[in-house]
Amino acid sequence: MEALLRALHVAAEKHRLQKRKDGITPYINHPIAVAEVLCRVGGVSDTALLQAALLHDTVEDTQTTPDELKHHFGSEVAALVGEVTDDKTLPKAERKRLQIESAAKKSTRAKVLKLADLCCNLADLLENPPPDWPRERRQAYVTWCRQVAAGLRGSNPPLEAHLDRLIRRGECFDTDTSSRLFAENT
Ligand code: NDP
Ligand code: ZN
Repeated sequence: MEALLRALHVAAEKHRLQKRKDGITPYINHPIAVAEVLCRVGGVSDTALLQAALLHDTVEDTQTTPDELKHHFGSEVAALVGEVTDDKTLPKAERKRLQIESAAKKSTRAKVLKLADLCCNLADLLENPPPDWPRERRQAYVTWCRQVAAGLRGSNPPLEAHLDRLIRRGECFDTDTSSRLFAENT
C-alpha cells in the first residue's frame, strides 16, 4: 500500500498542472484509471506493475527522467515505464508506426500495461473526446488501437476482451452517429 501511494503521490505532483485532451479532466485521472483497470479487469496485483501504471506517462509527458524513477522506485519500475514511453524526438507519424511495430516485442508485463493504457484512452475517446477531433480522426485512432492491440495478444485475456469491446464500441459509436445523422437528414 505504501509503495502504491508513493507512486500515486509522485505522479500527482508531476502531472499537477496538466489536463487531458478533453481540456477539462485533470491528467492524473488517466494514470489512476490505468492502474484501476489493470487491477479490476486484468486481475493484476503485482506492485511494481501497478506503480509503473501510475507513473507510466511521467517520462513522456513531464520533465521526469528515467534515472529519477530508478532512484525512487527501482530499476524494475523504471524499465516498465521505459517500455511504454515514446521517443518524443521522433516525428509523430513515426512514433505511431513504431508503437504498432514494437508492441509484440515488449515484455509481457509491458504488454499488459499497454493494453490497460489503450483501454483507458479508448474509453476516454468514447466518453470525454478531445473536442477538436472530427469523426475521421476518432476513427483513425480506433483503427490504430486495433493495430497496436494485435501485437499485445496473449498477455492478459480479460484485458484483451475488454479492449476488443471498446474497439467495437468505438467503431459502432462513429457508425451509429453517422447513420443516425444520415437517418435524421433523409
Ligand atoms: P494522439 O496521439 O494525438 O492523441 C491520442 C493520445 O492522447 C492518446 O493515446 C492518449 O495518450 C492521449 N489522450 C489525452 N487525452 C485523451 C482523451 N481525452 N481521449 C483519448 N486520448 C487522450 O492521437 P493520434 O495521433 O493517434 O490521432 C488519431 C489519428 O488522427 C491518427 O491516425 C493520426 O494519423 C490522425 N491525426 C490527425 C491529425 C489531424 O490534425 N487531422 C493530426 C494528428 C494525427 P497517453 O495515454 O500517452 O496520454
Ligand atoms: Zn497513458
